[in-house]
Amino acid sequence: MARCLIGCGSNQGNPRGHLADALELLRAMPGVTVVTASRLRATRPIGGPTGQDPFVNGAILIDTDLPPADMLDMLTAIENTLHRDRSDRWGPRTIDLDLLLYDDAVIEQADLTVPHPRMATRRFVLEPCVEIAPDLVHPVAGRSLRSLLANISQPHPHIAVVGVPGSGAPEVAATVADAILARVIHAPAVVPSPKRADFARHWEAALRECAAALQADAWPDDSHGTVTDFWLGTFLAAADGQLPAAEARRTYDRFARTTMPPGVVLLLIAEPATLDERLAFRRRTPAPQTDMFADLVGTATAVADAPPAATADTVAMLITMQDRLRRRLLGAGPVPDDRRRPVVAIRADDLGQAMGDAVAAVEAMA
Ligand code: ATP
Ligand code: CA
Ligand code: CA
Repeated sequence: MARCLIGCGSNQGNPRGHLADALELLRAMPGVTVVTASRLRATRPIGGPTGQDPFVNGAILIDTDLPPADMLDMLTAIENTLHRDRSDRWGPRTIDLDLLLYDDAVIEQADLTVPHPRMATRRFVLEPCVEIAPDLVHPVAGRSLRSLLANISQPHPHIAVVGVPGSGAPEVAATVADAILARVIHAPAVVPSPKRADFARHWEAALRECAAALQADAWPDDSHGTVTDFWLGTFLAAADGQLPAAEARRTYDRFARTTMPPGVVLLLIAEPATLDERLAFRRRTPAPQTDMFADLVGTATAVADAPPAATADTVAMLITMQDRLRRRLLGAGPVPDDRRRPVVAIRADDLGQAMGDAVAAVEAMA
């Protein structure tokens, strides 16, 4: 038997009616026992086409002996029965049923990610969940649902937009800050490339500068929030294979101890082809005042001076770094302390879409 949490929403036709129908269909499914359902609540639409009707959201706790893939198929079948239209991303729908948690399973498949990848920062998901299952633990964030809701309810939200150079972190961070009227802190120093001579010294100097920008005792407590385009944990990822692990950890702890960690991380993930294209663009158009991806310049020149052979090298290095960031922030297995925070992964290949997704993730916290 597995215990599952299902998130449900509707904003088309008769939302409360559709949600009641979905619950009845779920109760009738063989292999499913409904344990509890939350109250339904009205929420505002986030991220989709403008002018949508308000949503009604809820959560349902079930026990099941269906495996996760069959659970998703069953939810899709119920959506189809209730005439779900899938033509617009985040568009109006008669019913949406998401598999939020399946015991403590962590699943990464093409059509199924569990825990649901955007649940940990969505108030319209967490509020009904906390009503019926406050102590269930989100296995990637390593925290209870109650604690995740408290996390997005802090008076001064602190959001880190994290990604390798070329992923667009500075641009996305600025856009998110604009959207929620937060201050933005851009990285005062870049993480040195692994090919950099005297890596250890540059690493420590950059870590010191970045930590200085995040001092907890100088942290504002107004309600506007802070968005950064860097995360100190990136330094640990960069030290992998470059510095002795215990030594890197000691130095890191010395600087990180007095800093304010982010409450939420937005992790930008770019394809190699995207980074390659942006690097090529950056080499063709040196316009440092106005150019996007200016952070690529330093990285590329630190790797090697002679284009174009250096490009492939730089891209490979960036992808290695990106994989380490992803493992550190989202990997399965025992959770080190520096990963105990909700992370939303965002595809960074289309920068406009990445900005929209990042803003939606942050607006869902309010
Ligand atoms: P969001 O996922 O941001 O809540 P949505 O619910 O509107 O948006 P859908 O169009 O309903 O998104 O689903 C898109 C795809 O997400 C589905 O085809 C499904 O395969 C996939 N998916 C991956 N993981 C899950 C999950 N845990 N629960 C439901 N669908 C999932
Ligand atoms: Ca959904
Ligand atoms: Ca869905």
